[in-house]
Amino acid sequence: MPNSQMTPGIAPGRLNPDAYQNNFADLHAPFDAHEAAVAADRCYFCYEAPCQTACPTEIDIPMFIRQISTGISESAAATIFAQNILGGMCARVCPTETLCEEVCVREVAEGRPVEIGRLQRYATDILMVSGVHPFTRAASTGKKVAVVGAGPAGLSCAHRLAMLGHDVVVMDGRAKAGGLNEYGIAAYKSVDDFAHREVDWLMQIGGITMQYGKRLGDGMSLADLAAGYDAVFLAIGMGGVNALSADGEDLSGVVDAVDFIEELRQSDALCEMAVGRNVVVIGGGMTAVDAAVQSRLLGAENVTMVYRRGKARMAASVYEQELATSKGVRIIYNAQPVAMHGDSAVSEAEFEYTTEADGTLKGTGETVRIAADQVFLAIGQTLEGAPDGVAVDRGKITVNDVGRTSKAGVWAGGDCASGGDDLTVTAVAEGRDAAIDIHATLMA
Ligand code: SF4
Repeated sequence: MPNSQMTPGIAPGRLNPDAYQNNFADLHAPFDAHEAAVAADRCYFCYEAPCQTACPTEIDIPMFIRQISTGISESAAATIFAQNILGGMCARVCPTETLCEEVCVREVAEGRPVEIGRLQRYATDILMVSGVHPFTRAASTGKKVAVVGAGPAGLSCAHRLAMLGHDVVVMDGRAKAGGLNEYGIAAYKSVDDFAHREVDWLMQIGGITMQYGKRLGDGMSLADLAAGYDAVFLAIGMGGVNALSADGEDLSGVVDAVDFIEELRQSDALCEMAVGRNVVVIGGGMTAVDAAVQSRLLGAENVTMVYRRGKARMAASVYEQELATSKGVRIIYNAQPVAMHGDSAVSEAEFEYTTEADGTLKGTGETVRIAADQVFLAIGQTLEGAPDGVAVDRGKITVNDVGRTSKAGVWAGGDCASGGDDLTVTAVAEGRDAAIDIHATLMA
């Protein structure tokens, strides 16, 4: 039984049964054809478009918007997928407000960008619903590549390698593919089992075999893989969680936000998902926002996010912060955890206010206690089980700009590797680029 369900004050069924479906419905309703045409019509089809430069996968955005506006949305989808095979998920989870839409000339001139993310979703949904897969495999190269991790980087790499004619075996320790898309993002960003459907659609390329329940270090070593395959791509994510290092962190009710989000994402009955009445979330990233908002949507009365630095330093975008507050989440900036209080279960979380000067954070000595029967820790993840034989620096596998590690024949990408933001779209770009380099290396 999950920890959350064993703790007094944390209970399932806080809402009327009908409320769950509404609360966890699609965050943004998809465009209909008319809305898409109107949105596409706002694009200036810029030459050297800044939106394209800002996209980590460098999707030809003016091209796909023009294709939508001329009524060939399947072609628009193919334009997107050529650069980003997970373009459907990225259309749902990308922080477009800090990427393509932030630099759109319409945003700069008028404060209202072309809605690139929603247009991308419109086009990709049309093609995926049709069941058509727009790519075919090249003739077999006879080469075999192991991909460890079936998250965005691993899937992107596997698909590109399969397209190029290689046989790919993707291994993942879990029971399903998708990584963070399947287990680690808020349910309202990926409704109707989209993550699972996207993997099924991607697999239509052929040449990819999935092996579940297989983890590096668990009867499978990097040396074995390197010996058995022509190349290895590591996309093992960040499986560990940082410790809070505060008194009371072992109290019942103090849990990792990623576990809560995973439990929620895999739940078939949200009315059975337990949540506290008073929830405190510690952290300032997307995971913190996803945990806080979903706690509110499950019926928690008071949800407080506490972040140790100021608003501008928060990893979650202003849009995400505003989403949280619009759902009734209170955000306290500049407060760091001191201790969790309670007998066996947490009842209060104590914080010390902070100030920041020249990047250095200092406690002010002033403290505050917040009632809490559930505390979610969203204070960052760590590389777990880094394989022997590859260099690691500052907690990430060291790679060059095409994903090569320090070990010949081994590439890495996604959250586990150095460089780039920890975003789905960045992982997709890194997986794709590593695949292209693997192909060039194997065929040289
Ligand atoms: Fe269109 Fe904006 Fe991109 Fe220009 S910057 S091509 S207007 S989406």
